[in-house]
Amino acid sequence: MTIMTGLALAGCTTENPFFSEFENQYGIPPFESIKPEHYMPAFKEGIKQQQAEYDAIANNKDSATFANTIEALELSGRLLQKVSGVFFNLYSAETNEKLDTIANEVSPLLSEHADNLYLNDAIFARVKSLYNNRENLQLNQEQNRILEKYYKNFVRSGADLNPADKEKLREINKKLSLAELTFGQNLLADNNAYQKFVTDKEELKGLPESVVQSAAEAAKAAGQEGKWLFTISKASFMPVLQYGENRALRKELLLAWANRSDNNDANDNKAVIKQILQLRIQKAKLLGFETPADFILDNTMAKTPEKVYEFLASVWQPALNQAKKEAAELQKMMDAEGKGEKLEAWDWWYYAEKLRKAKFDLDEEAIRPYFKMENVRQGAFDLAGKLYGLKFKQLTDMPKYHADVEAFEITDADGSLIGIIYTDYFPRPGKRAGAWMSNYTEQLYRDGKNIRPVIVNVGNFTKPTSDKPSLLSMDDVQTLFHEFGHALHGLLSQTTYLSLSGTNVVRDFVELPSQIMENWCFEPQVIKTYAKHYQTGEVMPDEMIEKIQKAGTFNQGFVMTELLSAAILDMDYHSLKNADNLDVNTFEKASMEKMGMIPEIIVRYRSTNFNHIFAGGYSAGYYSYTWAEVLDADAYQAFVETGDIYNKEVATAFRKNILEKGDSEEAMKLYLKFRGKEPNPAALLVKRGFIN
Ligand SMILES: [Zn+2]
Repeated sequence: MTIMTGLALAGCTTENPFFSEFENQYGIPPFESIKPEHYMPAFKEGIKQQQAEYDAIANNKDSATFANTIEALELSGRLLQKVSGVFFNLYSAETNEKLDTIANEVSPLLSEHADNLYLNDAIFARVKSLYNNRENLQLNQEQNRILEKYYKNFVRSGADLNPADKEKLREINKKLSLAELTFGQNLLADNNAYQKFVTDKEELKGLPESVVQSAAEAAKAAGQEGKWLFTISKASFMPVLQYGENRALRKELLLAWANRSDNNDANDNKAVIKQILQLRIQKAKLLGFETPADFILDNTMAKTPEKVYEFLASVWQPALNQAKKEAAELQKMMDAEGKGEKLEAWDWWYYAEKLRKAKFDLDEEAIRPYFKMENVRQGAFDLAGKLYGLKFKQLTDMPKYHADVEAFEITDADGSLIGIIYTDYFPRPGKRAGAWMSNYTEQLYRDGKNIRPVIVNVGNFTKPTSDKPSLLSMDDVQTLFHEFGHALHGLLSQTTYLSLSGTNVVRDFVELPSQIMENWCFEPQVIKTYAKHYQTGEVMPDEMIEKIQKAGTFNQGFVMTELLSAAILDMDYHSLKNADNLDVNTFEKASMEKMGMIPEIIVRYRSTNFNHIFAGGYSAGYYSYTWAEVLDADAYQAFVETGDIYNKEVATAFRKNILEKGDSEEAMKLYLKFRGKEPNPAALLVKRGFIN
């Protein structure tokens, strides 16, 4: 096996923390001693080292073996992994102008470096010879899978192209990575640029006191004491949409959110979208596919655009029908107020909240005090304890990149180390919107040793104030459990190879481990373990839990319509065969009209701020959330059917066949091993309350 360690570090200073092993027993990066100026030298040296490793594989005089080719590739690039792990995590969670500049500088280098592997004829020839001879190599399941994966990645990256087309592809990739970066940066800049200072307290009527207080503190922090500041971070403006009586303020904030990067200014993304799509179309064609969707989906569980459209159509109509019923109910409420107003997008949350209260007497603000962040997080940890026997211990002396970050050590029932999880839950400038799981290091075997991962869960939940802890909304609770599910997928991994490890699975399978956790979070048995009033410690009363249960399918027509319209918009963009005359807003409008979208609902992400598909790696992939929901609804049924949602046997089967396996087998095969049968799509429609 050719593991190259101890390569010379000519020209590098010894103080750069990336150039020595992270000394920490868990392999946690020494955040406090990493400075922005350390990244570029480490990236450059890391690329150089891995290139030398590639060259050694390419120039190896021995004929190709699994060990001297595939395993050697798997174990290459250690320094580059280290620096990338730290940099890209912080670039998402704690960026600044310096890191933005580095990202711009390094992105084209990295895409070029990836091309240097995948367009390397000598290495491809070795991989291809192994692939063609795979029947005779006596490989185990994981080895077979990883060989296939490398072969496919090479072909999909253009390894089979002629030299001129290879050069074209390099150019496209370089331009594409820059354009995608620009998209994300424009969006973040637009997010940060928007500030709405309210000067008249009258405009805040209806808002919960805690929201008013947060807005006052935000204004004070921005140097405008005595005013109230709202931003287009969801934690800031969603309460206004839900509770704000002032219709004009609701409209202003919702449109500011929806129109991000669509304001014909320096942060506008319309031209960027056109460029991205043109490049993606060129790339797909070069690789022998008709459209980007055909190319992308070839590497998923769904496989083809036809299959995805067919799936989306089967859910879209039931969801839209339900949304129309909901709209009629909301309009009735407005009519009863006698103002003669017609329901608009900025009214939906407000009246839905009122209707929720009327129907279920469920007031989100009355619930929040039971959802202190620390308690909810402990609830998620305890659930993992009950299902998988995991134990969590807070580590107070670990390096941190921000004061809000906390670290936990996770051990298995037998006391062995599972890994480390960092949680980083509060919004701040420099953190992108939304919530995600990521890793600093991933699980794999190196030198026969099982290296355990360092995982992070990031969110943008309500910040604690001077007199209140962070109190989560129901949505936040669900998100916390969701991201923790991704974390478990990364943490429990037991694969030999990095490329098969943890969440490195096909995209329409990756949301199963996360979404299944959402099924547990509001179950009465589970909720009682963590929902304790932050002042009195009182467990959430049974009536309140019952209401949460009953309200579970409330407003789901809206939720699904918002989500599915985005999934269809994504598919429409990536099914284009030509984007030369693309007018983004006209296209978006036509896409919505074609599917009969109602004007009272705005697509979950409008084109110019649809980061998932234009910068986040979810192109022709936004459907995956719904696809995975069929999987998670069906998988959760396996627990429900036993009459015990903590059923140990089912949990063990889920852990052994799904969570530990990463991508070591085809997703459907793993699923069949766990469940014994294919997932049933009706499980989703029942869960959402569209059918009984
Ligand atoms: Zn997810």
